[in-house]
Amino acid sequence: MEPLLAISDLRAYYETELYGISRTVRAVDGVSFNLYPNEIYGVAGESSCGKTTLIKVISGNVRNPLRIQSGTVRFRADDIDRDMLAMSYDEMRTVMRWKRISYVMQGSMSVLNPVRRIIRTFADIVSTHRGIKDKKRFLAETTDHVRRLGLPSEVLHSFPHQLSGGMRQRVAIAIATLFEPNLIIVDEPTTALDVVVQRGVLQMLKEIQQQSGNTVLLVTHDMAVHANVADRVMIMYAGRIMEEAATETIFQSPRHPYTQHLISSLPTIGERRERVSLPGSPPNLANPPEGCRFHLRCPVAIDICKTIVPAMRVLPNRHRVACHLVEGPTEEPQEAPTPAKAEALPDDAVTDVREPGAGVDLDGLAPTTQEMTR
Ligand code: SF4
Repeated sequence: MEPLLAISDLRAYYETELYGISRTVRAVDGVSFNLYPNEIYGVAGESSCGKTTLIKVISGNVRNPLRIQSGTVRFRADDIDRDMLAMSYDEMRTVMRWKRISYVMQGSMSVLNPVRRIIRTFADIVSTHRGIKDKKRFLAETTDHVRRLGLPSEVLHSFPHQLSGGMRQRVAIAIATLFEPNLIIVDEPTTALDVVVQRGVLQMLKEIQQQSGNTVLLVTHDMAVHANVADRVMIMYAGRIMEEAATETIFQSPRHPYTQHLISSLPTIGERRERVSLPGSPPNLANPPEGCRFHLRCPVAIDICKTIVPAMRVLPNRHRVACHLVEGPTEEPQEAPTPAKAEALPDDAVTDVREPGAGVDLDGLAPTTQEMTR
């Protein structure tokens, strides 16, 4: 099957200079993976492992001091193969954003404009990307969309503060799926939600994916979330991929020592054994260790781990592991990396759900504040 998104040997670094001292943080360093149509692909790893930088690149949000050093990011949909790193900011905005790739950002429940009703946020996005010729039709279609996702139509006429955290998160997902994009990136969708609401949000995500057949890139450190909804999971550590496999394989027979630690630290009902923490903390990516980036914390490290970067081994059933202790054929280089071409976004570029629209006049369709408080 042709991948929807193919990332090959991606290197994305933050380059800063302060008081004449240059600093390069290797946030994503040689990452290759494919996303296929109609799957939920989980990305897991602790803070600062490169998850957020990866999202920035895929969503076309590369701005100073982030720079693409090398690699390719190709997006294939409707029989068109696009080199995303060669696309201009305007192309990303008009061709890709919302229509082909949408992004439910972390803490999206607090990014809705607090002084605008939800319907006006929908209107901003629709008017910016498609235009609104018929206001009644826009309202009918938007109402139909939120109802199909199981939300009451009243949310459209509410202000964000009138909704619960879970409802605001559902609204953010409804906005992201409005144009039925091929790829939906969801960043930490359940943070700060209680478990009952978490379940509702995850169920909604799963149903949307099943109904529309699009691809979901689910980024969260919460392994329980991956266990519940992801089809495949990739484990990142210090800017590199440690392991990737079907969710069942990751949880039942992890091969990488870091993944094994993540899985063994998950609590299970009725089990009271003591959980062991890994010593130390993730390395400073401005000065990462040579060899395997996990070797300073790895309980089974051997000498070669200190100097040689482990190759990615390919095991049966698309299971990939980067560890010297795992035997198997090494991965073929996928595509030759190309020089960086990504255009840094203008500093004033706005990329969240508050994207400016044409200030659509919805008078007569959206109730006024007085009407709402009556
Ligand atoms: Fe541990 Fe070495 Fe494997 Fe890295 S390569 S995970 S240090 S055994």
